[in-house]
Amino acid sequence: MRGQTTNKDLQALEKLQQIDVRVDEESQALEEIPARLDELRKDVERVGSLLESEKERLAEMEKWHRDQEREIELQGELLAKAKNKMQQARNEREHKAAQREIETIRKATQDREEELLGLMDTIEQGRKTVKEHEEEFVSLQSHLEQEEKEARKQLDAVKKKIDKARTGREDIVKQISSPVVSLYERIQKRLGMALVEVQDDHCTGCNMQVEPQRLIELRKGTRLIQCPLCNRILFFKENGENTSD
Ligand SMILES: [Zn+2]
Repeated sequence: MRGQTTNKDLQALEKLQQIDVRVDEESQALEEIPARLDELRKDVERVGSLLESEKERLAEMEKWHRDQEREIELQGELLAKAKNKMQQARNEREHKAAQREIETIRKATQDREEELLGLMDTIEQGRKTVKEHEEEFVSLQSHLEQEEKEARKQLDAVKKKIDKARTGREDIVKQISSPVVSLYERIQKRLGMALVEVQDDHCTGCNMQVEPQRLIELRKGTRLIQCPLCNRILFFKENGENTSD
């Protein structure tokens, strides 16, 4: 009778461990899914801040362009004044001085205009790039939103699965005597797998050879047998070796 109780405990413990392993695996998803989302969020942020700095650079160039245009306008006014001076020149000397001034202003204006032309190309290119990156950013953001929605669904499903597994666990725990459950949980907390199979007289948890006396007791099923080295609870797989009395 005692042996049957032990074997029943072992069978229940095996089921318990199957549930615990499954819950552990599912619980990993609870961390992996948010971690994956975090990575994606960081990507979106990185692209976003890159885009911001591109926009700032473009705005600076556009401002500089406007400033230069204003300079050209001012030069236009100066040129008009110089022309006026030349018309009102009272002698050859004044006429020549005004002419030199006009030349200087024209040259400066021409230089500025050439520079602006080059700058305009850069600005056009910058606007194109910003537009492309804006589109990329928007599509990345919507991808992220999609992934977040998907992740919420996945997490809900995982939580439901875990809850369901936990309900089954409680039912099984009730079938096992409480000292055995606490022994199992203590070992599990420390080593992960608390219940391990004996194969070729060895503990499959730590590979220690189990002495014959323990194996005899394990076969008899009079009490729970633990590995002498790692303390895990030992059992034989149901393949004829596990003969209960
Ligand atoms: Zn062991």
